[in-house]
Parts: sequence; structure tokens; C-alpha cells
Amino acid sequence: MGKKRDIIVIGGGLAGLVSAYLLAKNGHSVRLIEKKVYPFHRVCGEYLSNEVVNFLNREKLLPPGFAFPQINRFEFSDIKGKAVQTPLDLGGFGISRFLLDDHISMRAQEMGAEILTGTQVLEVNFLSESDRFQVELEGGNELESDYVIGAFGKRSRIDSFLNRPFTQKRSPFIGVKYHIKIDRPNQVVALHNFPRGYCGLNAVEEGKFNLCYLGRREHLREFGSIPEMEQQVLWRNPKLAQIFNEGEFLFEKPEVINEISFEKKSPVENHLLMVGDSAGLITPLNGNGMAMAIRGAFLLANIFENFENRNQIENQYSKEWNLHFKNRLLFGRWIQKLFGAETSSSFARNLLANFPWLSQQIIRNTHGEPF
Ligand SMILES: Cc1cc2nc3c(=O)[nH]c(=O)nc-3n(C[C@H](O)[C@H](O)[C@H](O)COP(=O)(O)OP(=O)(O)OC[C@H]3O[C@@H](n4cnc5c(N)ncnc54)[C@H](O)[C@@H]3O)c2cc1C
Repeated sequence: MGKKRDIIVIGGGLAGLVSAYLLAKNGHSVRLIEKKVYPFHRVCGEYLSNEVVNFLNREKLLPPGFAFPQINRFEFSDIKGKAVQTPLDLGGFGISRFLLDDHISMRAQEMGAEILTGTQVLEVNFLSESDRFQVELEGGNELESDYVIGAFGKRSRIDSFLNRPFTQKRSPFIGVKYHIKIDRPNQVVALHNFPRGYCGLNAVEEGKFNLCYLGRREHLREFGSIPEMEQQVLWRNPKLAQIFNEGEFLFEKPEVINEISFEKKSPVENHLLMVGDSAGLITPLNGNGMAMAIRGAFLLANIFENFENRNQIENQYSKEWNLHFKNRLLFGRWIQKLFGAETSSSFARNLLANFPWLSQQIIRNTHGEPF
């Protein structure tokens, strides 16, 4: 239909950046607001599922000149460090967000998107009289637009501003990430359990490995610091003790986030179209949040091309979002229950050892078809 719109995207992770890239490419006027400045590290396991590799190659959204490690095996260890390995049918590759997000922000600008970094959105209001949005930025600037895409991630001040129900509940989860150098096979993505959490290890570019875990706030409080918590809790799994002792840690200090919520959210709220984690966060053990953020942006950009008015766009987006993602999130939450406890993690390891096809089933239920 080709109606050109004026769109503001709040947040420049993968969901926001790919939305900005596609919408600008389709001729819309796009402004993206990101509170940080590229390039930057963020908490993420950086295992990217092959669900989106064709799309990224087609659109030249992968940084050129790098050999990204191809990953086709999965290792799972229970809390005691007993491990099993299975092949990964679909597989994926390792790529740092430091590189990937920066490259897509440049591609979005090449398509004509305006990217404002180092400033955050404080408030966003839909004005029904004018059928437009008013967006208030730090420093008192105000912008207006026809549409707003909410791509502000797991938890943002905008969620509290919109009074979204999940903000009323504190989340027990924290996320911690490092880049390390270590001698491990490049083609394996590993998930190692520890009491009440799990830690991933996989190669990214330039011989580095991503070491990223989902832990508990209560352990941090109990042990007082991240290094102490790691020694007292993560190292109970001998595989993790070995990784922490052998690895050369490349960051001065880890990237850390808290309040990671897996609660149900809604893909459209107060007329904002939510993409990526702001529509719902899949449990990280599935290694699929990045692909979902990219696919969500792809779905929404297509809807903008094929539907005329706000009502149609919102209804169609909710419908397609639920179709593609609702069950993946449910399944992810259910699978996460098998992690982080002694009996259930060794039960899960036994299941994978005796029924290797199970890991393929899990992947089928948490990933979409490549597009
Ligand atoms: C511990 C952990 C490990 C993970 N591992 C993997 C993995 O290996 N593979 C995988 O596919 N997925 C993984 N994920 C999930 C993945 O990181 C996310 O699903 C993905 O980053 C979602 O992208 P996004 O664009 O929605 O959000 P984000 O990447 O979080 O981007 C949101 C952006 O919005 C900005 N922002 C927020 N509020 C404002 C504001 N008010 N104004 C301006 N800007 C704002 C933030 O600065 C941020 O840059 C993991 C998640 C966790 C917690």
C-alpha cells in the first residue's frame, strides 16, 4: 500500500535496530533513540540461532571481514558436572553484540534512519485528539510521531511509566557476562548448571568466548560480591570451576543486569508496538531471544507495508506475534524448571543422554523456521 509514516523507535538493541533498518529501507521516516552509545557490550550469551542467518546475509546485516564460529553441538552439565553432548540440527553461530549492534546501527543510517544515541526517553504519550505520539527525551526535548515502536528491552523506565503489570513484581534473576580466552572447541555451545542457575559458554569472533550466566539476586546478597558468589555457588559445578580457573578474563569488570523478568507481557500497549524483549523475554537457555527480536522486527515491518490504519496494524501484529512467539515463551519457561536444581538437572542430563532426539524436539518448540 506504500503509505509513508513517521515512526519513533525507542531502544536500539536488535529489535529496535532491525525495525529501524527495515522501515527506513521501505521509505518511512524513522528516528531511533538509544540511551547508550555504540559500540557497547551488553549482557547476552551471543549465540545466534541460524533461524535468522539467511535474513541477515540477504540484508548485509552481519559485519563483514569476520569468521564467526559455527556452532553445531550442545553440551549440558548437571550441577555435579556430569555432562552430555548432542548435535544441534539447526545450529547457530557466535557473534558479539558489541560488533553486531554497531554494524546494524550503521546499516540503518545508510537506509536513512536517524539514530540518536546517548539520550533516553522519559515519557511517551498517545494523544487521541491528534492520533499522534508525544515522546519526551532527557534534557526536555520533545518529539512527535505517527507510530512508536517499543524496543526498550527487558525492563525500562518506560515500562514503569506505562504501568505494565510485570513491573509490580520484583524478579529474582540477575545476568552476568564476560568475554574470556580459553581452549575449548568452537563448535560447542555449553550450558552448565549450578544451584538455582545456569551458565553458558560459546565462542564468538576473534578467538574469544562468551561466558554468561543467569543467577539469583539472593545469592549475590548472601555472598556480598560477584566473585565471592561465583566461587561459592557457580564453582559447585566442577566444569564451571575449571572454566573460571583456566579462562583469561578480558573485561575489567563483568556486565551485570538485574530484574530480568520472564513474566507475560503484551505486544501492543497503549498503542505502542512492542518488539523483542519488551514484548516478552524467552528464557536464555533456549538461545533464541536475539533471533526472536530480529524476527519480530521483520514481522512488524511487513505489516506496516500491508496494512493501512492503526487498528489493522495493531490487530495484525498481535495476531502474528502470538502465532510466532507465544508458545515458544511458554515452552521456554517450562524447560527452565529443569535447570538449577540437583535432581532436576541430573534428570534432564539423563533424558538428553538416553533420548538425544529430545534436544531436537526442544529446539523445534522454541525456534521458528529459517526465513
Ligand atoms: C543472561 C542472558 C543470556 C542471553 N543469551 C542469549 C543468547 O545466547 N542468544 C540469544 O539469542 N539470546 C540471548 N538472550 C536474550 C537476548 O539477549 C535478548 O532477547 C535480546 O537482546 C533482545 O533484544 P532487544 O532489542 O529486545 O533488547 P535489548 O538488546 O536489551 O535492547 C534494548 C535497548 O533499549 C535501550 N533502552 C531502554 N530503555 C530506554 C529508554 N527509555 N530510552 C532509550 N533507550 C532505552 C537499552 O539501552 C537497550 O540498548 C540472553 C538474555 C539473558 C538475560
